[in-house]
Amino acid sequence: MYDPHSLHAEEFIDHEEVQETLAWAAEHARDAGLIDGILAKAALCKGLSHREASVLLACELPDRVEALYRLANRIKHEFYGNRIVMFAPLYLSNYCVNSCVYCPYHARNKHIIRKKLTQEEVAREVIALQDMGHKRLALEAGEHPAMNPISYILDCIRTIYGIRHRNGAIRRVNVNIAATTVEEYRMLREAGIGTYILFQETYHKQSYEKLHPAGPKHDYAWHTEAMDRAMQGGIDDVGLGVLFGLEGYRYEFAALLMHAEHLEAVHGVGPHTISVPRIKKADDIDPDVFDNGIDDETFARICACIRVAVPYTGMIISTRESQAVREKVLPLGVSQISGASRTSVGGYCEPEPEDENSAQFDVSDRRTLDEVVRWLMDQGHIPSFCTACYREGRTGDRFMSLCKSRQILNCCHPNALLTLKEYLQDYASPATRAVGLDMIAKELDKIPSDKVRARTIRCLSAIEAGQRDFRF
Ligand code: SF4
Ligand code: SF4
Repeated sequence: MYDPHSLHAEEFIDHEEVQETLAWAAEHARDAGLIDGILAKAALCKGLSHREASVLLACELPDRVEALYRLANRIKHEFYGNRIVMFAPLYLSNYCVNSCVYCPYHARNKHIIRKKLTQEEVAREVIALQDMGHKRLALEAGEHPAMNPISYILDCIRTIYGIRHRNGAIRRVNVNIAATTVEEYRMLREAGIGTYILFQETYHKQSYEKLHPAGPKHDYAWHTEAMDRAMQGGIDDVGLGVLFGLEGYRYEFAALLMHAEHLEAVHGVGPHTISVPRIKKADDIDPDVFDNGIDDETFARICACIRVAVPYTGMIISTRESQAVREKVLPLGVSQISGASRTSVGGYCEPEPEDENSAQFDVSDRRTLDEVVRWLMDQGHIPSFCTACYREGRTGDRFMSLCKSRQILNCCHPNALLTLKEYLQDYASPATRAVGLDMIAKELDKIPSDKVRARTIRCLSAIEAGQRDFRF
């Protein structure tokens, strides 16, 4: 029985409710009156239910699909402006006891090179990331109680936050590790992590169990209920995601929104972010063996539907996606992207050799951070290295109220300009710096408050004079 307030995975992700939703959405895919009503509700920026959003995903009326894209773009601008927050993944260890059939780190892969960074190697990787200009990381590690215990992850977080190198600093560490206990989530919270990210991979229980034939991750309930334990452990900001391509995308989409509704119902705050990875090629993984792959058009539709269904939730795409796909979906509501990512353990210090096989997936976008920053600005986006909310304690519902009160232009916007200025000053090539300074000068006018604008101008001058780390 479907119950968003339940703490049992199979009740808040109720299989029958998902199926009924898909049937209802298919039935109304050409129902112009209903679709217009849903679009009108979405335009109020109060979000949509999983049933309503599923109708938009199924919609077969081309003009209504166009209206959906326009609305997604409008909501993106209303809540996130033209900023795109930058981050990089940092792979700590690819030892793993699980057997996910879509991931080359699975325990039965005997020919992949296994690596685990020492604290000295973590420091070297972080310095390499700082030297590119990154301020925000997502830590990644396989599940291996002996090789990657929580104490190892905590040591890595301490190492990362402790490194000061020239003007560099990692100011926010998000963590993507296996589902764990409330007690261990509390330790992560105390170590000062930003968002805890855990991809569900697939919400379809039967498929889930087949795709995870052995290891602790096989337990669907343990995995699906992880965000509740994280929140019980005091982590306010959690990031959801599914791996598109494993199951039918309409199923995943409806269930993903049900998960968001569940978090809101039980904890009073929805997910901080939603990631939308698609399955990619990697060592011993051929994405073509999964027959639920989605094309770029469907991928764009999913992004637009997420944007209008959960306007307060950030949306993340990674370098799994090519430059062309990123260009297509950025205007539809993506708020964070990774740049210059290495998906192998130790990949930032050691150039990845041709035959490197320790990467979790092949990266489609191989540009440098400077190139990505320049490309974003050329497209009219402001690359932002802002980490202010987390450091000001604006997490969970406090972050949501910042969003809901539409203070983005008086807060995120100046923060984006200040952190971009730091980047231009410390790391950018001369050509990128010239484009960026021009952009900052123009974007200052968009700050509504005279007081905030004046303070931003003072801080920009102070950055030029060598000071760092200003924030609103
Ligand atoms: S997806 Fe994660 S848990 Fe599964 S094999 Fe890969 S690293 Fe291990
Ligand atoms: S001010 Fe907060 S919400 Fe805005 S970009 Fe910075 S961290 Fe994100």
